[in-house]
Amino acid sequence: MGLRQPLRPPPVTARKTPGRWRFFVAWLGTYNWGAYNWLVRILLLASARIESKTARFNRRSVLFVPEDIHLSKSEQPQTISELEPLTRDWLAAVGEDPGREGLLRTPQRVAKAWAYMTEGYGQTLEEVVGEGIFAAEGSEMVIVKDIEFYSMCEHHMLPFYGRAHIAYIPNAKILGLSKFARIVDLYSRRLQVQERITTQVADAVQDLLAPRGVAVLMEGVHLCMAMRGVQKQNSSTTTSAMRGLFRSDARTRAEFMSAVQGTLRGR
Ligand SMILES: [Zn+2]
Repeated sequence: MGLRQPLRPPPVTARKTPGRWRFFVAWLGTYNWGAYNWLVRILLLASARIESKTARFNRRSVLFVPEDIHLSKSEQPQTISELEPLTRDWLAAVGEDPGREGLLRTPQRVAKAWAYMTEGYGQTLEEVVGEGIFAAEGSEMVIVKDIEFYSMCEHHMLPFYGRAHIAYIPNAKILGLSKFARIVDLYSRRLQVQERITTQVADAVQDLLAPRGVAVLMEGVHLCMAMRGVQKQNSSTTTSAMRGLFRSDARTRAEFMSAVQGTLRGR
């Protein structure tokens, strides 16, 4: 009986590919072990499994996914493990003690929260819309009001949030109503400026449906303005993007504005 090893804390770095272990097992397999051949075969299978699991683990810790790489839903990062050591440094940099009890799990929480808040980088418009486009006649204005959005400003990495209103006038194609909220999420869950989300949502609806007109109006409260800088707690920012009839026809635009006006203030 050997001496018991003292307990060690689990390693904080990413798992490494168990290359040496696999070669050892493969080397074992080159000998004829007679009745114990089955055991060596099981070890070989197990080492191949460990390897594929490690590969999956390392794939998961992608920091930011460029827009042209299309990840399916199941492959989106649930956490951004690279952010954990950075968060510890960040805590120390602002004068905190990263080892203090209340902060011990903060780096993990931050890494998980950021994976969620930047989920939009790993999604495409096609995935988000799926089978949500339908053929339809009629050309009456469709308005989807009060879609909540939460985003992070790219200048300060602080939240801004509010409501979006989307209207369009169909031209043979319509979009399932829930998809508008998903399109807003797709462009909000990234580092953004409100102006860009507004035009991206308008362009997305334009590209998907080729309607006779699209209007997007967004109102947001920016914490970088409210908590710091000019400290205007009650100011909000309104941005709009108009396409087609909403741009060329003042009456159509006025109809949209009056339909959403009441909902903007007093919330
Ligand atoms: Zn900002």
